[in-house]
Amino acid sequence: MNRRITVLPEEVASKIAAGEVIERPSSIVKELLENALDAGATDITIELRSGGKELIRIVDNGAGIAPGDVPLAFERHATSKILTVEDLYDVKSFGFRGEALPSIAAVCRVEMSTRRRGDVAGTRIAVENGRILENEAVGCPEGTSIAVSRIFDSLPVRKKFLRQDATEQGHCLDIIVRVLLPHGAVRAKVLTASKTLLEIPRTGNLYERIVLLLGSDLRNHLVSVAENSPAVSLSGFVSRPDFTRSSTRNMFFYINGRYVRNVLLSQAVMGAYRNLLEARKYPACALFIELSPETIDVNVHPAKLEVRFRRPQDVRELLQRSLSGALSGVRPASQATQGGAAAPGRSGVYEALRRYSLSAGIAARQPMTTATRPMEDVPDFSPGQDGLFPSMEGGKEQVSFASLDYLGQIEGTYLVFSAPGVMILLDQHAAHERILYERLKQSTGGNLEVQSLLIPEILEMNPRDFNLLIASRDMLQEAGMEVEAFGENTAVVKSVPALVAHTDVKALVGEILDGIADSGIPRDEKRNRILIGLACRGAIKANQALTADEVRQLCRDLDSIPFASNCPHGRPVFIELPAVAIERMFKRT
Ligand code: ADP
Ligand code: MG
Repeated sequence: MNRRITVLPEEVASKIAAGEVIERPSSIVKELLENALDAGATDITIELRSGGKELIRIVDNGAGIAPGDVPLAFERHATSKILTVEDLYDVKSFGFRGEALPSIAAVCRVEMSTRRRGDVAGTRIAVENGRILENEAVGCPEGTSIAVSRIFDSLPVRKKFLRQDATEQGHCLDIIVRVLLPHGAVRAKVLTASKTLLEIPRTGNLYERIVLLLGSDLRNHLVSVAENSPAVSLSGFVSRPDFTRSSTRNMFFYINGRYVRNVLLSQAVMGAYRNLLEARKYPACALFIELSPETIDVNVHPAKLEVRFRRPQDVRELLQRSLSGALSGVRPASQATQGGAAAPGRSGVYEALRRYSLSAGIAARQPMTTATRPMEDVPDFSPGQDGLFPSMEGGKEQVSFASLDYLGQIEGTYLVFSAPGVMILLDQHAAHERILYERLKQSTGGNLEVQSLLIPEILEMNPRDFNLLIASRDMLQEAGMEVEAFGENTAVVKSVPALVAHTDVKALVGEILDGIADSGIPRDEKRNRILIGLACRGAIKANQALTADEVRQLCRDLDSIPFASNCPHGRPVFIELPAVAIERMFKRT
């Protein structure tokens, strides 16, 4: 190791740089796809052999490259997208580092044919291990076709780390879906040597594209969000709390059209679902955040998958506020009015999209390379200043609980209702639990009605529970429970919140202590768990007969609170069985 310092030869330096940008075949796919979008392509074909390990070919109908520029495109830090450092803070294209093509060509063989619209001839170039092998004028279609082969042949270590074809292909499909999701004006096809893997049609309906790409089981489980603040605008869809997944893989975030991973954003989303989801369950979402380019730094990650916000707090607050608003209003949906239901042609979402003028958004996303991004009659989804779906909120109709027709109770636990096109089952305990929790939450720290116990309840406890109870006295007091020590390992409860006054006090205390026993739980969460414990014990039980009047009151109460879709533990309050599903069971459709 005792060598003198030497500047690394260009070939070594470029392989090291390539290693950062090109981790696996899907990284190549991402870079090429983004180049095609930057070139204004509306038709893209992607071919993968052996999961992208053997060959990746991407053909686009974009702007093409001028003959003289073709060899330059393979030089490091050569780009048509920025010129000055200031431009870095106003990047509207996907690319700007001028690193992708040279990086790919440093560790693979790249063959490209390209022709600008209107040019009589195109150019064909072959580059391998950073060296240009061929560069000639040819006849070829307008647009650009790039074939990448001999992937990582010159980096055997990295080649060894590649997984099975199916795994690599999965990574490629994943990135294709993520990058293309918001670009409704782009049609794409993904092929292998023997079959078509994915066909993405052009669409003016973002809802339809999300359902197509993220799974049709999401249909009817999405709520739209749209919110603007002076600095940030947000639009998109989040899943209703009745649709959950076991990983965060279905959370998609876009900043100014660019797919990004961002902990702040996923935390903000999870914050909005707090007390709506069971433990280790995650929502699906596709959220589009638009802010002015100078308020973010996109140059923090070699593959540009991460961004930094200048004012992260603004973004977090906007996200949490608007998602909470959307989720708080989730009610059973009459199938006749639900957005994106069986007849998407007439859905609110579709209508809203048709009415929405997208010109502002398209102008904002113009790639700098080309002055012409074809204005298709199919709109791009790039949100304009008014957000993506400005007219959608008005179209969002769901139905109230009180308006449902009550049919009866089954198993002493589930209330059965009907509404146009749908049958609804309501869990009476989960429903009442949510009502009590929301009421307690609204009234703690001020106007909470407290019931003093005529005969204070004396509890003999084990030392651990006793100490926990006494240590939590102030938090319990805020929640309406007055507790005092009453001798060794004995406590006395003098009052409880009036809302749960009828409940067995010993059971209430036991439930609360179970919730807050873990010393690692932060104080705020302990306060929350005290309310959950009170609501859980205070709520109507399963196996309890209810009169029709009681059911009506329960429905009115549900209508009066936010977040009525799930109990505070995250379990659903109601389940919808659409008439079409019933018809299917009877084999009528
Ligand atoms: P960057 O995208 O950061 O500019 P790249 O290395 O990915 O850097 O590409 C270099 C240049 O090659 C781009 O700036 C663009 O001018 C041109 N280019 C690459 N791919 C395409 C394409 N599919 N269509 C048109 N031009 C392209
Ligand atoms: Mg690029």
